[in-house]
Amino acid sequence: VTLVAVRTFDVIVIGAGPAGEVAAGRLAERGGRDVAIVERELVGGECSFYACMPSKALLRPQEVLAETARVPGAAEALAGHGVVVAAALARRDEVIHELDDSGQVPWLASRGVTIVRGAARLDGERRVRVGEELLEAREAVIVAAGSTAFMPPIPGLTGAEPWCNREITTASEVPRGLLVLGGGAVGVEMAQAWRSLGSEVTIVEGGERLLAREEPFAGEEVGASLASRGVEIRTGVTATRVARSADGAIELRLDDGSSLAGDRLLVAVGRRPRTTELGVETVGLEPGRPVEVDDTLRVAGKPWLYAIGDVNGRAQLTHMGKYQARVAADRILGDEHARIEVDGLRSPRVIFTDPNVAATGHTLASALDAGLAARAIDMPTSSTAGSSFVGRGAPGTTRFVVDTARDVLVGATFVGPEVADFAQAATVAIVGEVALSRLVHAVAPFPARSELWLKFLEAYGL
Ligand SMILES: Cc1cc2nc3c(=O)[nH]c(=O)nc-3n(C[C@H](O)[C@H](O)[C@H](O)COP(=O)(O)OP(=O)(O)OC[C@H]3O[C@@H](n4cnc5c(N)ncnc54)[C@H](O)[C@@H]3O)c2cc1C
Repeated sequence: VTLVAVRTFDVIVIGAGPAGEVAAGRLAERGGRDVAIVERELVGGECSFYACMPSKALLRPQEVLAETARVPGAAEALAGHGVVVAAALARRDEVIHELDDSGQVPWLASRGVTIVRGAARLDGERRVRVGEELLEAREAVIVAAGSTAFMPPIPGLTGAEPWCNREITTASEVPRGLLVLGGGAVGVEMAQAWRSLGSEVTIVEGGERLLAREEPFAGEEVGASLASRGVEIRTGVTATRVARSADGAIELRLDDGSSLAGDRLLVAVGRRPRTTELGVETVGLEPGRPVEVDDTLRVAGKPWLYAIGDVNGRAQLTHMGKYQARVAADRILGDEHARIEVDGLRSPRVIFTDPNVAATGHTLASALDAGLAARAIDMPTSSTAGSSFVGRGAPGTTRFVVDTARDVLVGATFVGPEVADFAQAATVAIVGEVALSRLVHAVAPFPARSELWLKFLEAYGL
């Protein structure tokens, strides 16, 4: 390719998903840096258009209906009505701006960030190629290229035209029979959303339970809720072959000899970093692998190269990518203390099914594995007076995990209706390492569901 232009910036960011946007904006706004951000698809990334935002839009109507059905006086007004499909899909389209990113551009533009449209490739130290243009960075290059759905090597899978998160979050027609491969966060969220819109849904999970990384009760309680809504759940079985007939019908064969039929197959078995066409080999890294970084988000031996968000494989969640972005930007701006302290499986995380699963820090198992003298305090999430009014009678367990050697909270998991925001109070207690003897003075209002904290402290003997 002939080079027609060379432009120089202080920092070049590859990928304008949530992580890249935050890093670019902070460097320009706080540090006055001349920043270019390169985006080959939509400014806003996977999160805004094909992941977090549309999935939450699809889940919210059934969540509101489920809660309404628990409230006498409101329940009767529903008179058995379900989600209105056309309106729910229209709201989803509004949330993703019909896949138009023009609403997302001003945030960057108003901070003076230059948006370069096109696919970026690294081209050696502090150099990035975008088509015929060469961009040079005076200070740093930040890779924020995100991730794509992992497609497992199952015979026949490609021929069955499987869906990944992109098709399932933007579908404009409700599949009659939806087969979901994978019982993690994406699988259970999409199973519940599309079931509420009318699909017959089956989840196939190779492990023994759904939501394998969470407390065991989380997967059990979400599974029970899905089953009560008519979702079929097959755990402990693996897909061995996929076949698609001329009329589009999909047959999924399983290793126990049985098979499942459907019209669409969603593959939700994990993510892969977008590093295959990124030119990482020009700087000595291996394509297809995560860009490994230390706690300052830098690549070892390359002080000019940073990787943030899904592409580094550390914690594949939007808020964690944005957190990493702030740390990376602060490092570039000269803050030698900036580093990430929360990471990986201990990151705050929410699964937006009904019931929600909101978790932060350790599970009991991970705390014990880490060698902590961990003790779990469990209670029904609906065991407070506040639950007479919100989430009335709904099943769900709450677990607080305490490090008994230090008397501080190290983890919490809340399963229940609309508990997404419950995780944050626990995160504050964990990150602040607040002594439980101090927490007794953090009085929870009556009758709010936060009285779970009072129950926890009393059960711990305080
Ligand atoms: C269905 C689903 C639901 C989810 N729900 C949630 C949720 O509720 N909460 C949550 O925290 N997380 C959720 N996630 C995870 C979340 O989507 C990701 O963690 C987040 O999008 C990662 O942000 P990122 O900026 O690292 O990458 P991305 O959002 O993937 O953005 C990367 C950007 O880089 C661009 N790019 C890539 N390569 C190049 C290149 N070579 N040149 C130029 N541009 C390039 C891409 O086009 C893309 O726009 C969900 C994921 C899925 C699949």
